[in-house]
Amino acid sequence: MNRAAESYVKLVLAVGQHDADYVDAFYGPAEWRSEAEAHKRPLSEIRAEAETLIATISSRPAGRDERHENDELERLRHAYLLRQLQSMVARIDFLSGKRMSFDEESKALYDAVAPTYGAPHFQRILDRLETAVPGEGTLPERVEAFRQRFVIPRDRLDAVFKAAIDECRRRTAQHIELPAGESFVVEYITNKSWGGYNWYKGGFHSLIQVNTDLPIFVDRAVDLACHEGYPGHHVYNALLEQHLVRGRGWPEFSVYPLFSPQSLIAEGTANFGIEVAFPGAERTTFERERLYSLAGLDAATADRYAEVRDLLQQLGYAGNEAARGYLDRKLSRQDAEAWLVRYALMSPERAAQRVRFIEQYRSYVINYNLGQDLVREYIEKRGGTADHPQQRWEEFAKLISSPRLPSGLR
Ligand SMILES: [Zn+2]
Repeated sequence: MNRAAESYVKLVLAVGQHDADYVDAFYGPAEWRSEAEAHKRPLSEIRAEAETLIATISSRPAGRDERHENDELERLRHAYLLRQLQSMVARIDFLSGKRMSFDEESKALYDAVAPTYGAPHFQRILDRLETAVPGEGTLPERVEAFRQRFVIPRDRLDAVFKAAIDECRRRTAQHIELPAGESFVVEYITNKSWGGYNWYKGGFHSLIQVNTDLPIFVDRAVDLACHEGYPGHHVYNALLEQHLVRGRGWPEFSVYPLFSPQSLIAEGTANFGIEVAFPGAERTTFERERLYSLAGLDAATADRYAEVRDLLQQLGYAGNEAARGYLDRKLSRQDAEAWLVRYALMSPERAAQRVRFIEQYRSYVINYNLGQDLVREYIEKRGGTADHPQQRWEEFAKLISSPRLPSGLR
């Protein structure tokens, strides 16, 4: 199996030569990357080899040729490699000009289809916000004006983020044994379609980038610290490296193709990790007692902001609808932006940034909200409910250390 896995890694690197966003992380042998760079292979050739590899792996029963026949991880590995390769073929087809519907694409690339919600679904949540944020003007205007009171000033950003990251790391380390020497650096950048990004460098090290194009609200500190750092992407990648790449010698986890089922697990666990790290009211308490003063904000307003934030979060799927409509050519760019302002309550600037994200990453958007819901259901089914935080951490740690597929969460 290691030979097939090695071929898979090289194919991912080869696709990366045609698609700058495809290889999210790679920390395997450096000569594999230089080889891919030196000999750019045509997409048709990469596709044919991927198909051959799929046939080879399919013909081999899961776990049969391994020493640990009953090992669940071996079975997951087999299914994972197959599905990752099928997704690669779909991405190659996209790069070659083939277009699918939004749902077909998300199924092919991420092994999942997001539910469809119409305007009435979101309107019910908007109605509650109408009451929560009274005042003059339209609801999007009022919510934006309300949010402006919770912006972290640029010169306080780093202190606030560092405090949030420290707290997320402290909480995570109480439940998950982090690899010795794991570390990260934070960078503030501009001119990106995303708000934050974790670049995993291997050796248990990450670079976390924060985009400062738009105002950053105080709740983004915990969001980002958990999502990009602990127990999110940084921990996820570090545990895969520790347990699977180093522990088992499985080379396929030294590469991370962004447009693949792995991303639904990565984004879903990174988002769900926020409530794992801060059960119940603990997040708001921490924000109120620590972050508000660091940000120079009035701590007395923290509970009210948290209440509005929780309602706004329920509008998450509105972003999927904008993406589905836009990519399926049912909404123009302007319509998609207007939808995001009206139903996701984004400012016009944020809506424009979001549509740029949709253009760059397409159906990837489902990985955040659907991913979070699938991960929550999966962990709760195993007893990891909010009132059993210890069990929830255990199931969470298991999930981020194993190659489970989105369809395997059902
Ligand atoms: Zn993410």
